Amino acid sequence: MVQMTDRINDVWGSRTPYGSGQTWPVRVDQFLADDLSEADVDAWVQSTCILCSTGCGCDIAVKDGRMVGVRGRETDVVNHGRLGPKGLYGSWQPLNSSDRLTRPLIRDKGRLVESSWDEAMSRVVAASRRLLDEKGPESHGFYTSGQLFLEEYYALAIMAKAGLGTPHLDGNTRLCTATAAASLKESFGADGQPGTYDDLDHCEALFCYGHNMAETQTVLWSRVLDRMVGPDRPMLVCVDPRNTRVAQAADIHLDLRPGTNLALMHGLVREVIAQGWIDETYVAERTLGFEQLADTVAAWTPERVAEVCGVDAGLVRETARIFGTTERVTSTVLQGFYQAPQATASSCQVNNLHLLRGMLGRPGCGVMQMNGQPTAQNTRECGANGDMPGFRNFANEQHVQELAELWDVDADQIPSGEPPTHALEIFELAEKGTVSLLWISATNPAVSLPELPRIRDILGKPDLFLIVQDLFLTETAEFADVVLPAAGWGEKTGTFTNADRVVHLSRQAVAPPGMARSDLDIFLDYARRMDFRTRSGRRLLDWGGPEDGFAAWQECSRGRLCDYTGLSYERLSGLTGIPWPCTAEEPEGVVRLYGDGSFPSSTAECEDYGHDLATGEPLKADQFAGVDPAGRAMLKTCPFEFDAKISADFPLLLTTGRTVYHFHTRTKTARAPKLNNAAPEGWLEISATDAATIGVQDGELCAVSSEHGSAELRARIKEIQPGVVFAPFHYGSLTREGFDVAHASTDGQRPTAANEVTQTEIDPVSKQPVYKCAAVRVARIT
Ligand code: SF4
Repeated sequence: MVQMTDRINDVWGSRTPYGSGQTWPVRVDQFLADDLSEADVDAWVQSTCILCSTGCGCDIAVKDGRMVGVRGRETDVVNHGRLGPKGLYGSWQPLNSSDRLTRPLIRDKGRLVESSWDEAMSRVVAASRRLLDEKGPESHGFYTSGQLFLEEYYALAIMAKAGLGTPHLDGNTRLCTATAAASLKESFGADGQPGTYDDLDHCEALFCYGHNMAETQTVLWSRVLDRMVGPDRPMLVCVDPRNTRVAQAADIHLDLRPGTNLALMHGLVREVIAQGWIDETYVAERTLGFEQLADTVAAWTPERVAEVCGVDAGLVRETARIFGTTERVTSTVLQGFYQAPQATASSCQVNNLHLLRGMLGRPGCGVMQMNGQPTAQNTRECGANGDMPGFRNFANEQHVQELAELWDVDADQIPSGEPPTHALEIFELAEKGTVSLLWISATNPAVSLPELPRIRDILGKPDLFLIVQDLFLTETAEFADVVLPAAGWGEKTGTFTNADRVVHLSRQAVAPPGMARSDLDIFLDYARRMDFRTRSGRRLLDWGGPEDGFAAWQECSRGRLCDYTGLSYERLSGLTGIPWPCTAEEPEGVVRLYGDGSFPSSTAECEDYGHDLATGEPLKADQFAGVDPAGRAMLKTCPFEFDAKISADFPLLLTTGRTVYHFHTRTKTARAPKLNNAAPEGWLEISATDAATIGVQDGELCAVSSEHGSAELRARIKEIQPGVVFAPFHYGSLTREGFDVAHASTDGQRPTAANEVTQTEIDPVSKQPVYKCAAVRVARIT
């Protein structure tokens, strides 16, 4: 059954009910450009949707050398044929947009003018060489994405770490998924999703922690909805301060106060322990840290949780009972935890709940520390987030030596020993003048980073040489010294891995426009022009194309948790994606990790020695070795602390988030007419109580201000906690001449970016920005 239903008004499509342990029925979603039918399509080219971390398999329709539509792959393990609104409209239409970058641009007398590749890259290389001579490799910083391909991230990581030797490399995954990685490392010893989407087919209860799955991962939510209307309906628990679609569908909605996630989690853990719902054998044999965990949560009775979090004590008890007494519970975690105070500690408590019950690695018992972006997993595993490729440990000399041998460079060429530089630190170093060359690929920090007035000042610094590589002239590219036009999805070939470790191949369907090149070609070109060499005198990155990069990555992953050695482009050209680890012994990939209770946590194997979750202080190798978990999981936690920082001047808390119709900073989705028409400008959700106090009516323009900046948004009076307001973060500001003009709001130019208002505050462990709790005031604009 192929559906060409309107996914704007019918976001999740028709229900295909199924029961526990049954296979999710197929429903194929398809959208073709106006007036075209399947008979008009010249070719269907295998790909995977790249607009969220779900990773839905699809085929791109091609006609006359252009992308003209898309169809879900009915055989793919992830989506069984479905695509959501972003996948149907936002994946391919924006690539055909007439304002694509088609030539490199260079800044001349203050203006960006068209150039050639040779001239643009010569400028990049000249600046790079000059700064290496004058200041050394740490003058270079790289800020990349969660939307490139595996091969591109690995090339970038080699280029930065072995070619230049700079530690200043991170992805915008720092904003969306750093806490997923951090919590997995703290609990299990390495990044890597324990669970699988298949767990949704088996679970008896689903817990969504700060995860608005209905809007962020629409196809996954379709799967949940289909279970909810089938036999053996699972219980649904939603932890979210907002009354989201997930909350509305839930059996229990814990609408806790922003900033109090850890207090709630302490209460749930305490109750599970107090009621004796733990698997004592598993805890004793497969974990470390139980006593400290029990001590830390001991005071968190349901009544205390109720007082701090503003939820009903009976609901806390009932939630704990569901978790503690249900045989198969699946948990998912996302930005409501990751972008909130004490993010890593709160997310670790979700892992802890599963460990306490020995509930991992069995059907329906998964933890999914979700990703936001489609290829975030690859940013992390390839080391483009600053970590060491292949989940290696920057503080483990043996791991660094392995990389040195793989790349045939001296180990001391590779920055190691110290934690990698995180994104906000890279911008701070640019602010101070330490980083003088900043290369930004496929991301738009002039909209997505917190405290935008400061970010604009940094990007606009005259002594910063800024390179921006993207599909469009984004708000960030407006500041660049050199703009490099990149090929996008469907215009290049490569692999990427979704949030449940399933690897897909995305093939080139059409030629990129004009002179645009794949990000991989651009990185390889830079490496060639810089003449990076190995110890043996060979070119450091002598790959002929993406398949060479994949082969190189397979060697890097060999023997590690994220082992890709059983995969190949040929195998990935089959009916479905395949999860890692995939080896000769496990050719179909391992669907669930840790079913044997064995974790990659030994001193020799672990990716990280861990942190004090309260302070973020990293543990040293000798501290970790003293308590070597030796294959056991770690029950880590810390005390709850929160200062909302609200005051008479700023009495409300702003929380930011997503809408179903847009992705990231709308670079693509604003150029898909149906998506843009559905949500053309940002807004501010406010309770009726606060609206009455302020004197604002639904639809009126408000100024939402913090001590950092101000945005002007139309009020939407909603069912939201009094004292809390919400704004979507996707929208660019309109504060500068020419700024986001292509997407000017219907009211003309005015600041509409939620990040004008947010503050620079990070989780101490994951270094992920706290977007969910900014103290603000709201005033009606007359
Ligand atoms: S759920 Fe995500 S991956 Fe799937 S179609 Fe929608 S945006 Fe694309």
